[in-house]
Amino acid sequence: MVDLVIPEDFCLNDVKPTGETNHADGENKHFIWGDGNSEGAAFSNDEVKAAYEEHGEEQVPLGIHGTTVAVDWDSCTAQGSCFSVCPVQTFQWYRTEKDIPAVDCKGETFEGTGLTEQDERLDYSDKSQPIREHDCTICMACQEACPEGAIRIEASNLEWHEKAAGTFVQMPSSGGGPHAGH
Ligand code: SF4
Repeated sequence: MVDLVIPEDFCLNDVKPTGETNHADGENKHFIWGDGNSEGAAFSNDEVKAAYEEHGEEQVPLGIHGTTVAVDWDSCTAQGSCFSVCPVQTFQWYRTEKDIPAVDCKGETFEGTGLTEQDERLDYSDKSQPIREHDCTICMACQEACPEGAIRIEASNLEWHEKAAGTFVQMPSSGGGPHAGH
């Protein structure tokens, strides 16, 4: 397995998301973290660079999309390995729903109608968008499959997603754990 690109603490403590992408169901969203990294694999990948040129778009740093299912869009080279292994279709090719520059996904709402098969990318400037992050079963298959190490799966990051969303509820501490009183 290749090393993971996303650091373990990318969303922890005082880090605030730099944006979000909404799901049209009105209930779910995924956050975007960091300012991006122009050293990411996408910036030196010929297929990605050619696709941006074809669109007439400048390739700019994009950051990490998702919190429990975190995809570094600057390292995503649209290979689609995550699509082929995910049992619950967490990911969609964002450009097959909305063909807009990736940087403009910040603040956008997506229906989740984008294509979900490995080779259905619009082109190599497309990205794996964790539009159904909330459906992830934490099977870890995509993290293991990504050839760029661009995905980090971290169930415990749900707390940081909920804090960013304002839905975090502190569980009362009983001090005794599940077997207290026995
Ligand atoms: S961990 Fe498994 S269920 Fe979750 S996004 Fe990756 S492949 Fe899909």
